[in-house]
Amino acid sequence: MSECTHDCSSCGENCPSRNKPEDLREKPNKLSHIEKVIAVVSGKGGVGKSMVTSMLAAEANRKGKMISILDADITGPSIPRIFGVNARAYGDENGIIPVKTRKGINIMSLNLLLEKTTDPVIWRGPVIAGMVKQFWTDVIWGDVDYMFIDMPPGTGDVPLTVFQSIPVDGIIVVTSPQELVSMIVEKAVNMAKTMNIPILGLVENMSYFKCDGCGKEHNIFGESHVKETAEKFGIKSICRLPIDPEVASVSDKGLGDDLIRPEIGSFFSDITVDL
Ligand code: ADP
Repeated sequence: MSECTHDCSSCGENCPSRNKPEDLREKPNKLSHIEKVIAVVSGKGGVGKSMVTSMLAAEANRKGKMISILDADITGPSIPRIFGVNARAYGDENGIIPVKTRKGINIMSLNLLLEKTTDPVIWRGPVIAGMVKQFWTDVIWGDVDYMFIDMPPGTGDVPLTVFQSIPVDGIIVVTSPQELVSMIVEKAVNMAKTMNIPILGLVENMSYFKCDGCGKEHNIFGESHVKETAEKFGIKSICRLPIDPEVASVSDKGLGDDLIRPEIGSFFSDITVDL
């Protein structure tokens, strides 16, 4: 074997370093200093992924951290609506400026760039993934303690590209207590393993409904599976969130900054302790 020049493009040797997976991670904008990136994933839409992302961001913001949300759910962006943000994002020669919520969380979402937010996004996977990458590379996020990424649902092409291009420190999986839960979690666990990213915690949203008349907890969507599922996959932190009409109404009014829930408070402390 000839001496290594560290330039694989001009060398035909089949050495171990050539077989290393290519590092596809992109650099953030030069004016962004992002400490930790947490991606929030779900197996399918409608389980409350954006809601949990917003609650985590609101909680961390309340604790005095500098928080950003990158809305990567390009075909179903709901973060601006939850936080009542309608302003259009604008850019200058250095990049795109995110929009601030009432209490100072920086957000970027495709809906902040579209002229008409009701326009459907009829784009193929690579274009969608490219847009998410640009939210990472072109947005001037400034100083950030925690960036939460509201991921597109599922474990397909787009989430995979996002995980390859953005240095994610940990994943949070959001589920509902339905039968498929363990299959969905298993897929997320396998994807995280492939990408070498730890799963920080598992949230079972709409886990139960507490009757305000008798105080009894009703399992509207079936028995909870969160404990045994977390044990099965070695996930340390879990959170059970009830179906809460007030949560839905706060987000419908665009008051996402006020989505403070005690369950999320202790969950946030749990997941960030090892980060
Ligand atoms: P996803 O991001 O997974 O598609 P969303 O966060 O947009 O899901 O939530 C779907 C709908 O369910 C929204 O209308 C939201 O207000 C409602 N929702 C989510 N979690 C709860 C909850 N714990 N209690 C009541 N409504 C909820």
